[in-house]
Amino acid sequence: MKIGYSLLLGEYVPADQARYGDMTGFQIVCPCCKDPLIKVERPTPKDVTEFFSHYASKPGMADCEMRVASITQEDRTRTDSASRGQNLKVFLSVYRDAMSLEFANDDSPWNEYREMYGVRWFADFLASYLKSDEWIGEKREELLDWGLEPIDAHRIASETGLAISYRRKVAKDITDHLTAPYAEKNRRFSAEFAIRTLVSFRWFLRRHGDPEENIDFSLAKILTDDREAFDIWLDEVKSEDPEQERHFLRLTHLGMTFLLRSIMGMPVLDMLRNHRAGKRPLEGITALDHLHVRGDIDLSLPHDPAWVAQGTRP
Ligand SMILES: [Zn+2]
Repeated sequence: MKIGYSLLLGEYVPADQARYGDMTGFQIVCPCCKDPLIKVERPTPKDVTEFFSHYASKPGMADCEMRVASITQEDRTRTDSASRGQNLKVFLSVYRDAMSLEFANDDSPWNEYREMYGVRWFADFLASYLKSDEWIGEKREELLDWGLEPIDAHRIASETGLAISYRRKVAKDITDHLTAPYAEKNRRFSAEFAIRTLVSFRWFLRRHGDPEENIDFSLAKILTDDREAFDIWLDEVKSEDPEQERHFLRLTHLGMTFLLRSIMGMPVLDMLRNHRAGKRPLEGITALDHLHVRGDIDLSLPHDPAWVAQGTRP
């Protein structure tokens, strides 16, 4: 059969998306009789045919195949989106705690920073930016691909194709959520999270970043309680002083990039497994379960980032 059902995701899974390792990890079963399936790849002269099959033949199996084949795209879409809605609820119920895992061992004086005038202004700006959907906008797919690159390239948790595509879906759902009118609290959290990441990664950026693109300058502008100096800088940015505008955009883009990559690094499958087992989503999950992809990040921005194309401006 061409589609199976993942007990873990509560979704239908096409055979060509699943790898051998996904079968147990995602608990892929026959949508009809719920027996475990195996993945079969059969080379043809031109391609490889991929399908699922029951383990051993037993009476009534042909019946299964027929009934599975009759599941329409409409049935699948309905089930998948209902399940995704429920899964998203699970992730959002602990979104802030799950993301905060990244800073479990952070000893920077963040609580001092976050109260600063410049930081509060910038957090407000980023929060409204998230709401506007500008940071993802039309180029969402491209940005998600780009955000997944380091995960895909390093296979940090030796994830399979299906895990990666699920991560992508979740990140998409969460970024959608962040634009919702009622998501103010998560938006504010995410904006601060982005700034906190910039601050804690300052040393890294200092060592590895292109000196031309160094964010030290703009971070210093923001980590301040000097209202007057901050407002003067902001006026320069708003008046489109190319140099200052570039600094501002750079900070915004990197912050949003870090945020997106952290969302993609959330231990979503572990969380889902916990939930399905009747445990709290974050039970037993530690900072180590988060995919830390920033250590290897390529600091260059995408060739034509959506943010620049859409003319981000305070
Ligand atoms: Zn069956």
